Amino acid sequence: MDTEIKQELTQFARNLGASLIGFAPVTRWDEFNEVEIPYRPHNIWPEAKTVIVIGVPVLLPILETTPSINYVEQYNTANILLDQIAYRLAVHLNDRGHGSMFFPRDGYGDIKILIEKPKASFSHVFAGKYAGLGTIGFNHTLLTEQYGPRVRYASVFTSLALEGGPILTRELCTQCRDCQKVCPSQAFTPREGQVISAMDKVACAKHHAQIRDERRFPCGICIKVCPIGKDRLLYNSTDKTQLYLEEKAAIEENPQDPRYSSWVHVREHGSRGGRIC
Ligand code: SF4
Ligand code: SF4
Repeated sequence: MDTEIKQELTQFARNLGASLIGFAPVTRWDEFNEVEIPYRPHNIWPEAKTVIVIGVPVLLPILETTPSINYVEQYNTANILLDQIAYRLAVHLNDRGHGSMFFPRDGYGDIKILIEKPKASFSHVFAGKYAGLGTIGFNHTLLTEQYGPRVRYASVFTSLALEGGPILTRELCTQCRDCQKVCPSQAFTPREGQVISAMDKVACAKHHAQIRDERRFPCGICIKVCPIGKDRLLYNSTDKTQLYLEEKAAIEENPQDPRYSSWVHVREHGSRGGRIC
């Protein structure tokens, strides 16, 4: 019965544009005991039995131009699509007698609020892990086999109890630290014996406040360079590490460097800056 319902919900979400969909029983937050208690779904909404996590991909060739207006537009498009899928899935469940609501992909009114308090009321990253969609990498994102960290998420809380997807046991993060090397705010610090870094979220938020004022928010460089994800095969982009790591210095030395001309071209239009951060 569970399988049939999950197949129907998966197809419903896919028909609306979801690429990834996973099911996390709320008990997993207590089993793993990683997320602070007020941030667990059944503490946010006591009726919740399952969190359905939905993901849409970030398209790598556009992400490679970040920071740019084109990446801003892609980000906004993905966000609108996600929230609409999540809203419609929640209503679909309500229509079938299962009380449901959704948590939008972000939960802050302005980036400057994140500088004061750099924390969302609910983490889709942990929800995605508990739904079996991926593992959490050094850069605090959910790494998936299909798209690495290049996915945006929203979550539906439902009173319908469903069996969870299998949790990924193999860590996808290779600890290459490419994300750390390119981060313009130097937000990541390795932690001995831990996959996930210590992250200076305030530094990341301050950087975002600056590029937001230049009309080229968000940053996303740490998800651009991550080598994980089959999407790299699709775009023939499996061997770009050196290109990414040398980008900032190369463009500073020669803004016309032909290796980066297509990305620079996009950056020079529609937003202030033009350079990489
Ligand atoms: S989004 Fe940009 S500033 Fe923030 S952690 Fe990633 S690379 Fe660093
Ligand atoms: S860039 Fe490397 S270290 Fe960073 S999250 Fe991806 S695999 Fe992990």
